[in-house]
Amino acid sequence: MLLAFGVHMAVAAADRVPWQRRIGKNVDIHHKKQHERVRPDMWPAEPPTLKDVNVAKFTDALKFLCGGRERMPGDRSAKYAGAILDNADRFDVDPFLMAALIFDQSRCLPKQPDNETRYGLSRIDVDMHAPHVRNGRYIYFILDNGEWQKRDLDVSAFPFNQWKAAHPLTNIFWTAAILHVFYAQSAALAEAFPQTPHRHPVSHWFFGDNVRNSEPEDRVLTARRRMLQYYQDVAVIPAGDYNGLPLVSPLDGVPRMVLDDFGYWRGTKRQGHTHQGVDLVAEMDEPIRAVADGRVTFAGADMPGAGSRQLTPEEAAAFRDGPIGAGGLYVAIRHEGGLRSYYMHMDTFIVAERQEVKAGDIIGTVGRSGATDSGAHLHLEFRVGEERVDPAVFLAPVLVDPKRLAPTAE
Ligand SMILES: [Zn+2]
Repeated sequence: MLLAFGVHMAVAAADRVPWQRRIGKNVDIHHKKQHERVRPDMWPAEPPTLKDVNVAKFTDALKFLCGGRERMPGDRSAKYAGAILDNADRFDVDPFLMAALIFDQSRCLPKQPDNETRYGLSRIDVDMHAPHVRNGRYIYFILDNGEWQKRDLDVSAFPFNQWKAAHPLTNIFWTAAILHVFYAQSAALAEAFPQTPHRHPVSHWFFGDNVRNSEPEDRVLTARRRMLQYYQDVAVIPAGDYNGLPLVSPLDGVPRMVLDDFGYWRGTKRQGHTHQGVDLVAEMDEPIRAVADGRVTFAGADMPGAGSRQLTPEEAAAFRDGPIGAGGLYVAIRHEGGLRSYYMHMDTFIVAERQEVKAGDIIGTVGRSGATDSGAHLHLEFRVGEERVDPAVFLAPVLVDPKRLAPTAE
């Protein structure tokens, strides 16, 4: 397996390159500034890939990552998993990364919106690559002793066009082939073009030759860590403790990035409030887990002018888009030692008042309920009596907080 997690710093553009520059268009970015704060060397190393991957376990992990039976009906997950493993092997790329990329780009749904200019499960940018595919070969160049050396990859199994990119099984073939090229070329691209610092060749999937932001690779690498976690069937990730009470991560695929930290002032000089918890970057629908053993004290929402109200999951679905308080649908759990944890802006919850939960139990999913001006994320709050405490202090081992890591970047 070829896995080069090089650190690619910006360098001056070298002489002209002997190919038509690849420029990715319509890249989906939500938290650009936050990612620009984190230098590649601030991230822990990514977990290595696994050898001799078990097809059935990989299939189950893919199905769970993608959203279960609803998104992966029938034998779809088995078909996709088989194709991912075959083509990862064929082109020597990491199957967990391929699964993550497919999840990130399409939620594993092959049908794409009509206005989409990228195709299929992995949203292949056909215009970007078409000039480089000729006579069944992907032509690319690498640097060898300062000279551009032509290489070509045999991709003659399928033609390259938008229909083949859109069809799931041929999409998976082309996804592996293109990733192979970017893995092989990434060091040379870092020499030839100015790059926003990034960690992984998958960044080029989005941007082409010149990477402009590290957010997309963070999304993919987070999904990859989730995929590895599901493959290994791990529900509980130790994260720290609160005065001796063991805590586990509320989100999978750690470490997870902090979007807004505790105590952050929101509003104008005169009016506003400090942030009462920590916001974690998260994807719509991903599972939220109880951070410790405890008992659910609340599952519902705040009703404007009418206090808080417990809701069943069915009622919650009806209230998801409002009118409800700023925390949206939320769950509160009381733990030993007086700590209470709150999980806000949920899309769904699957627990009810008085229910006992164990650390790592799934209690609901990430959403954006009650969040009027932001996308999906998890607002996590820790309360002790009337006091709020900073969850990031106690969960530090599983968080990446740009403000803590690079305080001068403010
Ligand atoms: Zn928040």
